[in-house]
Amino acid sequence: MRQLVILGASGSIGQSTLKVLRQNPGRWQVLALTAWRSLDAMVRDCLEFSPRFAVMVDETAARELASRLKAHGSQTRVLSGAKALCEVAAHPDAHSVMAAIVGAAGLAPTMAAVRAGKRILLANKEALVMSGAFFMEAVRDHGAELLPIDSEHNAIFQCLPEAIQRQPGFCDLAAAGISKILLTGSGGPFRYSDIDELASVTPAQAVAHPNWSMGAKISVDSATMFNKGLEYIEARWLFNAAPEQIQVVIHPQSVIHSMVQYKDGSVLAQLGNPDMCTPIAHALAYPDRISSGVEPLDFFSVGEFSFIRPDLDRYPCLALAMAACRQGQAATTALNAANEAAVAAFLAERIGFMDIARVNEAALQAFGQQGAGSLDDLIALDGAARARAHDLIEELSR
Ligand code: NDP
Ligand code: MG
Repeated sequence: MRQLVILGASGSIGQSTLKVLRQNPGRWQVLALTAWRSLDAMVRDCLEFSPRFAVMVDETAARELASRLKAHGSQTRVLSGAKALCEVAAHPDAHSVMAAIVGAAGLAPTMAAVRAGKRILLANKEALVMSGAFFMEAVRDHGAELLPIDSEHNAIFQCLPEAIQRQPGFCDLAAAGISKILLTGSGGPFRYSDIDELASVTPAQAVAHPNWSMGAKISVDSATMFNKGLEYIEARWLFNAAPEQIQVVIHPQSVIHSMVQYKDGSVLAQLGNPDMCTPIAHALAYPDRISSGVEPLDFFSVGEFSFIRPDLDRYPCLALAMAACRQGQAATTALNAANEAAVAAFLAERIGFMDIARVNEAALQAFGQQGAGSLDDLIALDGAARARAHDLIEELSR
């Protein structure tokens, strides 16, 4: 039986992964579950899935988890601290690693899994955005296998020729007859709102996504469409696509998860109900197909599809991410770091919704042109951009 590590098991993607495992009993064994500090979810899931290891980054939570599991006679070994994430991600017995920690915190353990040559089920797009070419080169050099979980990239992957699926990051899209990647997005909850009213949007309104149920950070990113910007950069690296080969298309129904346009006029699309269990099941079983538990798509209840060109005045964060993608690695790393700080401040009601773009733009201006010759340089740049963003947040929240 293949052994699976789930990084970020207590989150939205982690929980959907466990749902897919429940649909397919006896196919995977859970080697490790990890969380930052969500205790109740970890106690419950460790008792159900009996992983060999459970990691809590927070030490107090780890101690509590160990004592609660012991009281139930569980054999799971509880580890703590960020280093333990890397240890389980690179464990010799692990076959696949679900990389579903949110934000830059996911980079080190995901990289550890890459360097150990695992099958990486990549949900943590921020890690790839932050480290771009370094990440993709490590995948190639260590013989890791990269399967996208992000629904759009999973859709694109499914629409690519099989030869490209084997090493997508180093393909030549044009030579394969591909003219464009069409990256679809719903436009988020404010796609029809009055632009002047966006400044007063509350966190509760921003996280209420019309089609998808997700963690708080990515829900805010979807409302600003920064998420689509991250995905634009993610597609650039995952599929070796030039920025001009990627087009963002707003598709409010979220049924077409993305498309690939070929030079003969064909457009291939992957469709389905908006539920992350589909891409998770695809990547877990690839190249086989397994049940995901997702309801089959009923075209008669969908009725109609529509498509809108994104208005960059409504979505300044999308414009910034596309500009950063053209600028290069330092720009995307700095932008991602600033955005994480800005979204956390917005969720804590310290800054307004439209201030997120202000914080992001300032980071791009300050750090976009810096050199970044190594992964360590990028980690330092991430820290500097975060510090600068915190200063600006301080000013804006006065
Ligand atoms: P959640 O916020 O729901 O879950 C995040 C997970 O990461 C939790 O397990 C959390 O633990 C853990 N975590 C948070 N901070 C740290 C840290 N510093 N160190 C270690 N672990 C940490 O996020 P989502 O599941 O929504 O998203 C996860 C990733 O997947 C993101 O990168 C997102 O962009 C991507 N993604 C998500 C989609 C979705 O539908 N949700 C769709 C496509 C991509 P704890 O619970 O203890 O805080
Ligand atoms: Mg997505």
